[in-house]
Amino acid sequence: MPPVARVLPLVTARGLPGELDYLEESGAAGVGTVVRIPLGGRAVDGIVVARANETDVPAEKLKAVEAVEERSTTSELVDLARWLADDVASTTARALQLVEPPAGKPKQRLWARVALVVPKSAGESDGNDGSGRGMSNAEPPTRGVSVGDPMPESLDALLPEGTKLTPAQRELLEGLLRDGPRPAGDDLARLRTLEKRGLVVIEQTDERRRPSAHAVGASAAKEPPATDEQLAAIRRIDEARESGGGALLLHGVTGSGKTEVYLRATRTALEAGRTVLVLVPEIGLTPQIVHRFQQRFGDVVAVMHSGLAKGERRDEWWRVRSGEARIVVGARSAVFAPLEGLGLVIVDEEHDSSYKHEGDPRYDARRVAAWRAKRAGAVLVCGSATPRPESFAALELVRMTQRVDGRGMPPVEIVDMKGSPGALHARTREALVDCHKAIVLLNRRGWSNFLECRDCGHAFGCPNCDVTLVLHRRRGTLDCHHCGHTEHIPRECPACGSVSIARHGLGTERLEQDLAGLGLEVLRVDADVRDPGAVLARFGELDRAVLVGTQLVAKGHDFPDVDLAVVLDADATLRFPDLRSEERTFALITQLAGRAGRGGTGHGKVLVQTNQPQHPVILAAARHDADGFLAAELQRRREHAYPPYSTMVRLVVAHHDQRVARELARTMAQVVASEEIGEVLGPAPLFKLRGREREQVLVKAQYRGQAVAAVREAVGRVERQAAQKRAQLTVDVAPQ
Ligand code: ADP
Ligand code: ZN
Ligand code: ZN
Repeated sequence: MPPVARVLPLVTARGLPGELDYLEESGAAGVGTVVRIPLGGRAVDGIVVARANETDVPAEKLKAVEAVEERSTTSELVDLARWLADDVASTTARALQLVEPPAGKPKQRLWARVALVVPKSAGESDGNDGSGRGMSNAEPPTRGVSVGDPMPESLDALLPEGTKLTPAQRELLEGLLRDGPRPAGDDLARLRTLEKRGLVVIEQTDERRRPSAHAVGASAAKEPPATDEQLAAIRRIDEARESGGGALLLHGVTGSGKTEVYLRATRTALEAGRTVLVLVPEIGLTPQIVHRFQQRFGDVVAVMHSGLAKGERRDEWWRVRSGEARIVVGARSAVFAPLEGLGLVIVDEEHDSSYKHEGDPRYDARRVAAWRAKRAGAVLVCGSATPRPESFAALELVRMTQRVDGRGMPPVEIVDMKGSPGALHARTREALVDCHKAIVLLNRRGWSNFLECRDCGHAFGCPNCDVTLVLHRRRGTLDCHHCGHTEHIPRECPACGSVSIARHGLGTERLEQDLAGLGLEVLRVDADVRDPGAVLARFGELDRAVLVGTQLVAKGHDFPDVDLAVVLDADATLRFPDLRSEERTFALITQLAGRAGRGGTGHGKVLVQTNQPQHPVILAAARHDADGFLAAELQRRREHAYPPYSTMVRLVVAHHDQRVARELARTMAQVVASEEIGEVLGPAPLFKLRGREREQVLVKAQYRGQAVAAVREAVGRVERQAAQKRAQLTVDVAPQ
């Protein structure tokens, strides 16, 4: 190994040196290894990004690496971090933190198992069925019973003659015999006594090495026969993988069985010796897909998402890094899993905005997934019933147009709300009374989102942000949904003392109460509900119920017996001035409509309440016409040179003094404009947030690389000044 290690310190302040050379002659620190290095009189962590024979540092100044840690990431992920830093205009140190191996080693744990010979029961196989479950007489007497084997006749038949046991000891042994090996836990002392008598074995194992209940392919037989469309999709994915990779868009209507395609394509990729990465939007809300992978592939599946405890994450990370886990299913951050030999990268529900990370670095997991697939020669499969215009324009299309159960798509009725007072149209109310199970979407949480004094017109706003406060009746508070400010519900107007306060803008909390009057059990999911996953599970179990909630109710759930889906205020998202308003509205309505009429007995029905019944986006959604929508939307984007026909970069300066923010923003706008790479819009004020005034500059350029370079230049120009004045700079490349 060359003697010089090129190291990137994991220190995230901007303006610090990049790669530094150190002497490391042992050769223990390959690319990706974490090392301790001396830097400015301190010792800091760094990651080796390259090895070299030569360095520009004079010999007498070249310092040595202080320590080589036992953790390392893959060289692919080091390259990924370097690419990503550039791609999203962040720093390499920040990007490296995304791929850094977690600190510490997996915890050790004591496992106990019985040390008795279990006689072979009649009809059992000869011991080796490949899953490590069988027993054989030839095995040493210390072998225990594994999970799932049938209970032998009785403990006494196995005990050496004359063995005496206390009731507690007997219970322990019977438990181990029945359920198989388990962590010693609180019973350690008692188990040690049994160990001394030769009845139990206690072993130290890595906690992460859970005894396997089912091995790869164990339940492959449970695969349902695939439909023709599924088979064609799987064939195309396999072909692409065998010929060195590709990027596919699996555009399948809701209920077309995309998960089954992922599962089968995963199996063939594993059989070819490759690994598989599966990204899903939010694991807490759609645990079904994780379960299905675990059911089919057992312990080679690692699960990664931000909800894991630190230790759990570390253990899963090591299972992947060591090659023990070969499939990773996870949310956004799982895109950095240290898998080697990727053959298949799946992005499920690729339209979901949660793939975009809204902290530094502002990466988009879909773009990172595409990079990894390309680099590894793997197939990228982006799946959705409502693909993004970007993906539709760029990826090879694989279609599934039919639902697996042969049912058509549920009919959608547009309900015109013009001139109809109240939240629910009479038609909707009627349909709710008649249905068995309904999902009602209203994309606004809380009780009402606008409080106003009837006498003086005072509006209740956040003291830190230019937004109105939202009333949460059960909590008894008015909350800001942007900064976390909260106050008690006012009894009177702070401006004039009037007690007459009007509540406008219906939210999910109030809708929940309104619907309770219909005589159905009402459940609610939104960001105010502590465990949305549990509510969804309960909804799945009930025979008659209404599920009310924000967009969380539209996220790919598969409940077979929902016969009514309702969207309230369907044009709410259209009123939002954003280039993706149309796309979001279409996806929301279509996805919610897709929850109705899946299997079960009843047929599905969908009602869409709106004030704009003639809006083309709403009409397209009502026809389930994704192709029509995408064609029109791409046309519109082309006319305005919006993405994918350009790249946008958003620069935001935040400061408590609006003049400071404006001045810095103006300088940056000028620098970018002088590069002549495209259009520069702004600075323009944004609403005040967390006590800071904000100014925004939007850059629209044909080439992403050029846009990022120009923006870096601009940020570089004002960085010092911004730091001195404590102004906050945000760069968002391809904002969502
Ligand atoms: P999508 O993600 O395309 O909306 P899912 O993958 O959730 O659809 O599948 C919908 C339902 O159809 C699931 O309950 C799944 O188990 C079932 N399913 C999928 N493929 C088949 C098949 N080939 N035969 C029978 N049922 C299937
Ligand atoms: Zn008032
Ligand atoms: Zn606020």
